Amino acid sequence: MALLPISAAAMKLNALDTMAKSFVNTEKMPVLFLGHGSPMNAIEENEFVTGFRNIGKDVPKPKAILVISAHWETKGTFVTAMENPKTIHDFGGFPKALFDVQYPAPGSPWLANETKGLIKKTNVGLDEQWGLDHGAWSVVKHLYPNADVPVIQMSIDYTQNAQYHYDLAKELAALRDKGVLIIGSGNMVHNLGVLAWDKLNTDNFGYDWAIEASTKMKQFILSGDHKPLINFQSQGKAFDMAIPSPEHYLPMIYTLALKDEKEKITLFNDKAVAGSLTMTSIKIDKA
Ligand code: ZN
Repeated sequence: MALLPISAAAMKLNALDTMAKSFVNTEKMPVLFLGHGSPMNAIEENEFVTGFRNIGKDVPKPKAILVISAHWETKGTFVTAMENPKTIHDFGGFPKALFDVQYPAPGSPWLANETKGLIKKTNVGLDEQWGLDHGAWSVVKHLYPNADVPVIQMSIDYTQNAQYHYDLAKELAALRDKGVLIIGSGNMVHNLGVLAWDKLNTDNFGYDWAIEASTKMKQFILSGDHKPLINFQSQGKAFDMAIPSPEHYLPMIYTLALKDEKEKITLFNDKAVAGSLTMTSIKIDKA
């Protein structure tokens, strides 16, 4: 039989079809929470960066990544749906070298649509404007330096409370069986207003309240007691100081919501920085 010429459109459809099929029935992917800290972690060499690299080697290579970043807050929930998300430098006052960083990972319109289809709690919007903010690229670049894994972001609806986000996150669970690595990116303790600038280079320096909040959070996380973490606003002064606004904390709520009962939790990068920030990160995977 003679080979017929295939039209470009048919080839594209074919490729999409193959891609969609490649997303089914993988081994269950781990879930991560990454404490991203300063944007400078994108270009510096330090123990946190080493921690991110080690996780990148440790986790099975995903087919795609979905990041819930502290730095994309919207009214309603959106996912980035463009083919080629731009690298967003959403910060000021940093060296040019940081603004020069590009992370050209492709997007995944397929995953954006799949995510939209999975979530019943709200009508998820497909976004063509955002891209990858530093909550996503400053850490994902250390896990996958070749930018060869498609990345999409899902926004945080700032009008909703932690219980809402916890319930919404559970609807993402099926993606874990399709080779998708879900990453929450924020910081558990994050109060930049009282940052101890003179202690930036002091190893593991946390204010008393930061250590108290961090210790309690870790106890709740490791014992699977999510209720007090969801009700973080009723946990007293240390939590109030640690979470002056919820955007850096909520990505962790997404991560925890995706934990199956029998899975195990591993903490890494578990250190305080400059008094009022913790880099503590979480890996959830099979026991
Ligand atoms: Zn941040």
